[in-house]
Amino acid sequence: MIRGWHLAGSILTPQGFVQGRLHFSERIEAIEEAPVKGPYILPGFLDLHVHGGGGREVMEGQEGVEATLRFHLQHGTTGLLATTVTAPLADLERTLKGAQAAMEGPWGKALLGVHLEGPFISPNRLGAQPPFPLPPDREIASHLLSLAPVRVVTLAPELLGALELIRFLAEKGIRVQLGHTGARYEEALSALEAGAVGFTHLYNAMTGLHHRAPGVVGLALERGKWAEIIPDGLHVHPAAIRLALKTIPGLYFVSDAVAAAGMPEGTYPLGAHRMEKRKEGVWLGESLAGSTLTLDQALRNLVAFRVPLEEAAKRLSLYPARYLRLSDRGEIALGKRADLVVLDEALRVLEVYLEGEQLAWEGSTRN
Ligand SMILES: [Zn+2]
Repeated sequence: MIRGWHLAGSILTPQGFVQGRLHFSERIEAIEEAPVKGPYILPGFLDLHVHGGGGREVMEGQEGVEATLRFHLQHGTTGLLATTVTAPLADLERTLKGAQAAMEGPWGKALLGVHLEGPFISPNRLGAQPPFPLPPDREIASHLLSLAPVRVVTLAPELLGALELIRFLAEKGIRVQLGHTGARYEEALSALEAGAVGFTHLYNAMTGLHHRAPGVVGLALERGKWAEIIPDGLHVHPAAIRLALKTIPGLYFVSDAVAAAGMPEGTYPLGAHRMEKRKEGVWLGESLAGSTLTLDQALRNLVAFRVPLEEAAKRLSLYPARYLRLSDRGEIALGKRADLVVLDEALRVLEVYLEGEQLAWEGSTRN
């Protein structure tokens, strides 16, 4: 472990950007204001919805999880939730066991746990999810929870037994999100009352807002406290992102990245599906199949969408940390983990630090 590092530049602190020097070991030790010039120093990004990247995906098991962590670390993501797709139980078991093993592996410090996207989702709202949805089932859920630290579950609240499952998961401190759902407004409201708190890739794979049928989107905009959204410019129009920012206090950004992220055009796995990366996105037939986004690109997109840099950065770090109740990271403040991303003027990643240790990779400044 390298100790006693310092970086100089424009540091994002809880009070806003400060010019100065940042001193840290595994933790942030001091922020010293000084008239120095230098790159942006931001808290590392936290991505609560990631299926894969760099040609690999978490559904492969431990190696896929580790390759995904490594790929996204290079883009400044210092914490992520390995996110499953709907799959036969044996495949989910392999993924969860792989994630548990990866917690102890070389990139385990960047693994926040698991996001189960399904299998308790609507068969009518699969989007690009493989066709293995299950009705809500507490025993299956308990079994899956026993295999790895599950932090987030995405489910469809209109399914029979969903409300009971929401109560069960919420009592365990798991964040339950509505997604891949055809629920009416009233059904989704019952889910919030039962303890669900979030919305998965807001606007996508859920009932839209109509003034006589406000749907899941209407509920999220009316009284959602938290929601994730994909700022790749394909899944959601920038204006719809700005609208959600006005009404949902805890809105945070996710990549929903799949194996094709960071790869040339071609065919890649998404669980049981094969999907196609063409230059405008990743497709399963006519359906968007996750994204090729990384959170450094998300930051650049958000600034282009007229979201202020400070706000965009906080919604990529502090907000997801708060959502998962992680009080030791997500901001650059005394005593917090030194998970840092250093970016140039064009917001390109220069350096990444994970618990104070600078990461090296081919083409990075430190090799
Ligand atoms: Zn999805």
